[in-house]
Amino acid sequence: MARKKLVKGKKEKVGYVTKKCPECYAYVKIEAEVCPYCKTKIGHVGSHGMAIRKVDWKSYLTFAVALIALGVYIWWAFLRG
Ligand SMILES: [Zn+2]
Repeated sequence: MARKKLVKGKKEKVGYVTKKCPECYAYVKIEAEVCPYCKTKIGHVGSHGMAIRKVDWKSYLTFAVALIALGVYIWWAFLRG
């Protein structure tokens, strides 16, 4: 009687003690939420031990507002009438 063990492509989530900062590639503690070297907000460890970059909505919003303001300025300065 042969016992067949089906091995699925299961990804091991535990095992890491450090993760890599996606910004400066420094090794930081697995539980760190902010890189101590470049102050980038980092999430949990992703593939290849690299930390996932956290989405900073505040800076995205600031960027979007700045872009819209620039667009309005260009329209106002060059494309009016
Ligand atoms: Zn860093």
